[in-house]
Amino acid sequence: MERDDALELVPRMRDQGYSREQVERRREWLAQKTGARLDHVGSGSLDTEALRGNVENPIGCAQVPLGVAGPLRVRGRHAQGDFYVPFATTEGALVRSYERGMVTLSRAGGATTRVLVDENRVCPGFEFADVGAACDFAAALPGWFEDLRREAESTTSHGRLLRVVPHVIGREVLVEFCFATGDAHGMNMVVKAAERACGWLLERHGSGRLLLFSGLESEKKASAHLLPGGKGKRVVAGATIPAALLRSHLHVEPAQMAELWRRTVTGALHAGTVGYNGHFANGLTAVFIALGQDVANVVNAATGITRLDVLPGGELHASVTLSALTVATVGGGTGFGTARECLQVLGCAGAGGAAKLAEIVAATVLAGELSIGAALASGEFVAAHEQYGRNRPGG
Ligand code: NAP
Repeated sequence: MERDDALELVPRMRDQGYSREQVERRREWLAQKTGARLDHVGSGSLDTEALRGNVENPIGCAQVPLGVAGPLRVRGRHAQGDFYVPFATTEGALVRSYERGMVTLSRAGGATTRVLVDENRVCPGFEFADVGAACDFAAALPGWFEDLRREAESTTSHGRLLRVVPHVIGREVLVEFCFATGDAHGMNMVVKAAERACGWLLERHGSGRLLLFSGLESEKKASAHLLPGGKGKRVVAGATIPAALLRSHLHVEPAQMAELWRRTVTGALHAGTVGYNGHFANGLTAVFIALGQDVANVVNAATGITRLDVLPGGELHASVTLSALTVATVGGGTGFGTARECLQVLGCAGAGGAAKLAEIVAATVLAGELSIGAALASGEFVAAHEQYGRNRPGG
């Protein structure tokens, strides 16, 4: 291939270029090259050396507006109390919408939350000469579990291999390696651990051709395979809301909410939606940015189911089940800057915080489902965006 000398690469710098001066030099190079002013990009307060391991070719910091919604009363196993939840967003009306859902939930006594499954997985594929060899491998795999566990756990002091689950597809075997990952999101952790275990398999058993990511893990992808859990935390949140409270705070009747739920099932089915919810992704994205989570994981984390029912006493019962909530309080982008501060606001920063965070996030998502459901069922949706959103491009 011919060299294109007109292609100008981002300047390479000594030791990867994380010092304050190097970051500034790179930013100035970009400003000069593009004619853009980068004053805000250069105004962040983060220690540039601390960005090592989180971003390459650093030029500064993106700044996203931060709002807060609450109080959110949570009655979980790990989270108990009233919380004020930070949202990083530029979507007008979002924070207000979650806030009114939270206040309604809290006045109703709070959201009951539970973490049902807590693990992460990676699913390597092994290709064999034929179906027979693939089936023999799959049948033998459970017998090798203790060896696989020993190998995998030799790479981590917090990760625990819980089980391996083979899926035969023709002459290929896709293997779910399921791990407990403590307070970390765990993808770096589990990929490293699974690679070590797979190395042992290949060495000892000459087991086919390996591909570390087969696609079955649904990392940053929506899929039906996420619904039973296994990628992050499977969390449920629910609350019973008296009709009078729903009327006074959200301007809607329980029957209108249940009808909205019934009628939107049809559209979701027709669209082939995975899971069924109003807008899990909205709150998740804003909270993930605020709390230093891997935002691309909203794709899997937003896979889940909302349910709205009228109880025999006339109250509304609302619940959300998030099947694949990948949240962490250690590792990734959680350890510094605004993310660390926002995790502290929730009392979740550091070791021991991840399950608590998962319950708070699930209750937050429930508040958002209540609020958007009520806005749609009562016909207030557009008016609310007119009042709080921009809806005036260029204005
Ligand atoms: P990490 O920041 O790479 O590692 C976190 C490490 O923290 C753990 O491995 C663990 O070390 C240590 N740790 C200390 N206290 C802990 C505690 N209480 N609980 C759990 N671990 C504790 O983060 P990660 O969670 O493994 O990976 C998340 C990052 O991977 C995200 O930034 C994400 O964007 C990225 N990612 C990677 C891949 C991939 O394929 N590699 C894919 C998608 C995303 P020990 O293991 O030594 O115990």
